[in-house]
Amino acid sequence: MEGQHHAIQRVNTEWLALCAGLKPGLRIATDAGAVGSIVDRYRTAGFHVLLDNGRVGIEGRARILVYVARGAREAAALRSIERLIMAPEASPRSKATFTREFGLRLGYPSCCVESFARRTERGGGRFQPDDRDRVDPDFVHAHEANVNQPDWRINNLLMRQFASLISFAPSRFDCARAVDQAAEILALVRKHAHAAEQSLEAMMRRALAIYPSGRRVWVQVTDARVTDAWPPGGMPGSLVDVGNAEAAVQCVGALVADGRLCGLGEPRPIVLSFG
Ligand SMILES: [Zn+2]
Repeated sequence: MEGQHHAIQRVNTEWLALCAGLKPGLRIATDAGAVGSIVDRYRTAGFHVLLDNGRVGIEGRARILVYVARGAREAAALRSIERLIMAPEASPRSKATFTREFGLRLGYPSCCVESFARRTERGGGRFQPDDRDRVDPDFVHAHEANVNQPDWRINNLLMRQFASLISFAPSRFDCARAVDQAAEILALVRKHAHAAEQSLEAMMRRALAIYPSGRRVWVQVTDARVTDAWPPGGMPGSLVDVGNAEAAVQCVGALVADGRLCGLGEPRPIVLSFG
């Protein structure tokens, strides 16, 4: 399990979950190069597909948004609701309200939707509504959702590496409803993309540290010290992030106390024991 590369298989868990009826709809953020094949794939399978343009995610990059559902009305509702979330004039409260609606229509557990909507209302990247400084929203989520024994199946912090079973932020890293969904999707992966199962588990079932900047590294902790660290990577199509690679070099030797890396700045990076 050290730093070696695994023979990695990429798997489209969203596709599997939608086709199996585990999800009522999907929203995919993509770009001009990939949108054609995505639309073809879902339309050929009989789904309704609608497109939009928007800026989503932490970088606020312009993306093409793809809405997929079994019915035309459901696909249209997803698109309308996200337009309301993205509208520049929307207040934090109405953004949170529409975020709830959007999450429920994508089939996410209500407890997870609720905690996500509360962070949205506060303003992404803040611990308190009046915080002036912002950190990476995944760091705030990790801070709120961390538990002593997090379940690796709902590790959602490696989406950029294409390694995840769920596509939402769980309310806690042991949320039973999120784990149920992840277990069902894992069963689909086992059945339809067996080679991918081991790769996903190898990536997701490892202790992961996340920094306030959003940098994240796999860590090996021995006797309350980081004894080795690696930038997550490996899925085809993903590049090793330079910031993650730097963080991996810097954190070796750091003391681990109360699930945090010490001596690397404040707030302290969080260690999630998915391993
Ligand atoms: Zn939950």
